[in-house]
Amino acid sequence: MASLPGKVVVITGSTSGIGLGMAETFAREGAQLVINGFGNDQEIAGMTRHLQGLSNREVLYHRADMSKPNEIESLIQEAESKLGAVDVLINNAGIQHVAPVDEFPADRWDSVIAINLSACFHTIRHALPGMRKRGWGRIINIASVHGLVASPNKSAYVAAKHGVIGLTKTVALETAQTAITCNAICPGWVLTPLVQQQVDARAAQHQLTETAARQQLLLEKQPSGEFVSPEQLGALALFLCSPAGEQIRGAAWNVDGGWLAQ
Ligand code: NAD
Repeated sequence: MASLPGKVVVITGSTSGIGLGMAETFAREGAQLVINGFGNDQEIAGMTRHLQGLSNREVLYHRADMSKPNEIESLIQEAESKLGAVDVLINNAGIQHVAPVDEFPADRWDSVIAINLSACFHTIRHALPGMRKRGWGRIINIASVHGLVASPNKSAYVAAKHGVIGLTKTVALETAQTAITCNAICPGWVLTPLVQQQVDARAAQHQLTETAARQQLLLEKQPSGEFVSPEQLGALALFLCSPAGEQIRGAAWNVDGGWLAQ
């Protein structure tokens, strides 16, 4: 039986990877989805149809660029005005740039911070008043193990993801005596286009096959030697939305094949 019939679920960056996996998970639970992210019209139309087929409900697509505060405001406003609520907010849009800090392009730093961190602030500040009015809400921020530990050459990403966990804790405290919760999910390696770029760069740099580059990337950090899947992350997000998740507040929950146990 669907566990979230008609709940309005906004997922940023849901045209690919983890966000798309989350959208499929929530669609199967009968949620009313608002998806967002880049892609051409044909791809977006195909995804929308696919998700509508899973949820049996209309799916709204909003093309807000998550680096632009006014477009983020329009995303939340449109969900509220067309669907009447934002019940679950999943902040997932994210980008990566890999370079040593003293060679890190300042404009890339600004983009990583804007999309991975500031966008979460903007969606939350616009969605929270409606959640308070209706007396229920779930805010789930897709951070990363890099919100809890660092790796070299990812200064902007690590700073942004640590920031997301700080924001998560603060929002959890500000909503502690309500039925609104705010938590972060911290994945290890998930094989999405964002990580495939890093696999390709490694294969080219060390003259490895793609399979060898994937294995090397995994085994450096993730003891299981296996990727985390978007479906596993979707299942955890769903759990956080269930009654069992009511007292989970301000958590930074790693799903990382043992990365942080080392
Ligand atoms: P992905 O590249 O597959 O998907 C990113 C999504 O964000 C896409 O839909 C893209 O269109 C969207 N996006 C990017 N910039 C945007 C912008 N300016 N405005 C609107 N949408 C934008 O990446 P992914 O691996 O699925 O990553 C999703 C989230 O998970 C990110 O926050 C990432 O940091 C986090 N994460 C990923 C991994 C991993 O191993 N893949 C691990 C930990 C955390």
